[in-house]
Amino acid sequence: MIINENQLLSRIKGIMGQVPQIFLDYDGTLVPIINDPEFNQADKSLIELLASLNTAYETYIVTGRDICEIMRFIGEYNIIGLHGATFRIQGENLAVPGFKKYEQLSGKLYSENSYLVDEFPGLRIYRKSGGLLFHTGNIKNPGKIRELRKIIIGLSREFNMNLYTGIDILELRMPRVDKGNAIKLLRNKNRQAIIMGDDATDEDAFKLNPDAITIKVGDQDTYAKYSIDYSSVRPFLLKLLDL
Ligand SMILES: [Mg+2]
Repeated sequence: MIINENQLLSRIKGIMGQVPQIFLDYDGTLVPIINDPEFNQADKSLIELLASLNTAYETYIVTGRDICEIMRFIGEYNIIGLHGATFRIQGENLAVPGFKKYEQLSGKLYSENSYLVDEFPGLRIYRKSGGLLFHTGNIKNPGKIRELRKIIIGLSREFNMNLYTGIDILELRMPRVDKGNAIKLLRNKNRQAIIMGDDATDEDAFKLNPDAITIKVGDQDTYAKYSIDYSSVRPFLLKLLDL
């Protein structure tokens, strides 16, 4: 389902002369969400689609993942990583001020809390540079997830980190960083942009870029102007190549 697909495409046609940038979330937008996130490799048709888009438009992949991890899946692109804390722009790695501290902290928190995988069978903990991700998809007992959540809320308070809750995910992140501000930064002088994503972190991107063409993947409530089904994302991006 695309709400007003023709209207959306004609709006995009209208800004083509101003060379829009494209910002695309990865998990849940370009690839399905899977229970083993470390294996969410881009398939061949996605790799080809991204290469074509990147040639036609200034394209950015905007993800909560580490830059080196997402590069393993898709190769070399402009990337906003860790929900806006890190950047890879034209082959160069950059980070927001203060990021180093959280890079060190995430290492410390990972080693101090890895014992939790024994106390919560099914729990997986992933160390990110600058964050810590707790994956609860294999924990069978909802009571254990609530118990774990309390511990992680405690950690977020103690170490002044943001707690993000997603599907089967609890994540400690650097505070005051989000996809919305990262995208704004790259849209210098409010350049025209098309922004697409599927979850709560993408809502920051939609909210803070109200002048952009914003597209929510999925049918939940959203700040985005348009909504699209996951299955329609790739056909829609292919249409952008024909404009
Ligand atoms: Mg997503």
